[in-house]
Amino acid sequence: MCAIVGVFDTKEASRVAYYSLFAMQHRGQEATGISVSDGEKISKIKKKGLVTEVFDEAALKFLKGNSAVGHNRYSTAGSKSVLDAQPIHASYKLGEISIVHNGNLINKDEVRNALIDEGAIFQSEMDTENIIHLIARSQEEHLRDRIVEALNIVKGAYCLIIQSRHKMFAIRDRYGVRPFCLGRLEDGGYIVSSETCAFDLVGAEFIRDVRPGEMIIFDKDKEGFESIQLFEPTPRVCAFEYIYFARPDSVIEGKSVYAVRQEIGKALARENKIDADLVIPVPDSGVSAAMGYAQESGIPFEMAIVRNHYVGRTFIEPTQAKRDMKVKLKLSPIKEILKGKRIVVVDDSLVRGTTSKRIIKILKNAGAKEVHMCIASPTIEHPDIYGIDTPSYEELISANMSVEEIREYIKADSLSFLSIDALKKSIGEDMDYSLVSFNGDYFIK
Ligand code: AMP
Repeated sequence: MCAIVGVFDTKEASRVAYYSLFAMQHRGQEATGISVSDGEKISKIKKKGLVTEVFDEAALKFLKGNSAVGHNRYSTAGSKSVLDAQPIHASYKLGEISIVHNGNLINKDEVRNALIDEGAIFQSEMDTENIIHLIARSQEEHLRDRIVEALNIVKGAYCLIIQSRHKMFAIRDRYGVRPFCLGRLEDGGYIVSSETCAFDLVGAEFIRDVRPGEMIIFDKDKEGFESIQLFEPTPRVCAFEYIYFARPDSVIEGKSVYAVRQEIGKALARENKIDADLVIPVPDSGVSAAMGYAQESGIPFEMAIVRNHYVGRTFIEPTQAKRDMKVKLKLSPIKEILKGKRIVVVDDSLVRGTTSKRIIKILKNAGAKEVHMCIASPTIEHPDIYGIDTPSYEELISANMSVEEIREYIKADSLSFLSIDALKKSIGEDMDYSLVSFNGDYFIK
């Protein structure tokens, strides 16, 4: 998870970064930060909390300059300490630099231990800190060559934005696991961000996705931007972005997230024909897929579960007991719609089974006669180590139980999942995807 944004050569860069991060709050709610350069120095603010809590007018005025990088944190690597918030900033031989990162580096410990052996001192638990150390220790004369050297050492999934006082570098790993897009601001400046929904809010025009393996360089002294293909592209865009993470109004690799989710819902209906009176979504994660299911099956769609938007995501709470309570706080049923009905309920994914179990109880208590749980993704049987917060094998219910055992555990009348094949077809067969949580294909070696 996590959201990153970089804006270059624009007025009030911190404000543009702020709105972009606000648009991408769904990608991480733990901490947020912005770093700004005015050409002479870099100023930064990062804290725990939501974008609107951390930044006020005074903060944006303090963050003066024409280039900014920003980050919303959802901890996938590292601890929950504020030291693990981004941007990470450092002063080194060539001046100041700030880095934001979305993704996970798989050889974090190996690189970190080697650096520690050589005397490096770490401030955080973050894998991203390895990159800043590698850049600082490189003997190359130019920052760009230092970055290339560092990226030849780290392995994993990354979208990175590296800010110096005068330049900005945007880099996507050769697999393009996490989304990353490039756009043009109204005043001629540039923007790179995790999702296109940020462009819509700040009035930026979409240019294209940052290519897998590409480094884009923005330089004040040069027109436009420079593009260097650092690594041979072998695209494996994360399927989970389409299933759950990204906002439905975003477009990833030319594919509307909303349209993909609807396709997935239709495929789910074709693969699992159920005799039912109503299709209802688990809001908000199951809405687009449930609509697709209803359209394909002809079964009426109702919003029979109301979501309280003032509760954070269930996943964030560390203990099982608290998670149960949070689902209850967040979702409540409309009894008048549900009473005596056979319900198909659609959610995007089943991880530990907590949400589904709780929802089925809520629906049955509200008078539903039958509850058929339809999950708009395949069974999650493997932890994703490329930047998604899926838990370990022990906690993944589908890694430990058969579909029938899960059905019994969550007390559903039936339980169905989407096949991997249908998932691929729904997103589009023109690309390869990262399907690691479903098939255990850990392709980054
Ligand atoms: P669980 O209750 O553990 O089975 O988790 C499934 C629920 O969590 C679904 O409603 C998903 O929308 C949501 N979900 C799936 N993956 C994530 C994630 N990485 N972070 C937060 N929520 C998630």
